[in-house]
Amino acid sequence: MLSRKTAVVTGSTSGIGLGIARALAGAGADLVLNGFGAPEEVERLRGSIASEFGVRVVHHGADLSKPDEVARLFTDARDAFGRVDILINNAGIQHVAPVEEFPVDRWNAVIAINLSAVFFGTQQALPAMRERGWGRIINIASVHGMVGSVNKAAYVAAKHGVVGLTKVTALETAGSGVTCNAICPGWVLTPLVQQQIDALAVAKGLSVDEAGRRLVGEKQPSREFVTPEQIGGMAVFLCSDAAEQMTGAAVTMDGGWSSQ
Ligand code: NAD
Repeated sequence: MLSRKTAVVTGSTSGIGLGIARALAGAGADLVLNGFGAPEEVERLRGSIASEFGVRVVHHGADLSKPDEVARLFTDARDAFGRVDILINNAGIQHVAPVEEFPVDRWNAVIAINLSAVFFGTQQALPAMRERGWGRIINIASVHGMVGSVNKAAYVAAKHGVVGLTKVTALETAGSGVTCNAICPGWVLTPLVQQQIDALAVAKGLSVDEAGRRLVGEKQPSREFVTPEQIGGMAVFLCSDAAEQMTGAAVTMDGGWSSQ
């Protein structure tokens, strides 16, 4: 379905981004992986996706907190494959602290990576997508793009911003063959959330398993984690012809969290 298409997936050396990258490769897309990690582990991931799905895969180590590195990611992606048809803005970080104690450098980092990099990436990708009359931009927002939670000021502000940016991008591209949508997951068991589970286990004197159950049960009515594979499946759907008229949507995958 996506053969001869090229996808840039930011933050795809781990978690949700990796799940999406594998799903797009499974649908035939060539990939530009991005994100941090030990070089040998990143190379193992790159090689295993390429051989498992028979697609071309490169890795780019751009630090998305820096706009000039976002630009370089796209220049190098076009040098490698000639085009970028699909952009998955996924890279993200978290910092947890009350507003009064929120460190300014953490605020700036969360806004830079979770929000501004989405804007800069979209700016880079759009002109050529418009020219070709086809493109898919999928922003990985969060249920925190729809509702708030305590101690997550920067993250919630950034993710609400991503949902807003998704709507503006959709309006500006409507009828051009380019769509822009956001996926809003609830809890997904990835390294980013494992850190929060480990912190809860220490704070409450719980086992890690019990802390995980408590974390997911507190907010997510299904009491089950969303999986990176499920989010990958949604991304592939949003790239399909069936989703051609779907643009500007914020698709929740949150086990009912935002319905409460
Ligand atoms: P993760 O920590 O497993 O992966 C984050 C990825 O981003 C990694 O590949 C990392 O190397 C990369 N990254 C971090 N900083 C970067 C930077 N400056 N430049 C380039 N790459 C960078 O996290 P995850 O849980 O898979 O989260 C992925 C996205 O999904 C984030 O935007 C997050 O906000 C969102 N999300 C996660 C959950 C969840 O429960 N895990 C829920 C909703 C939304």
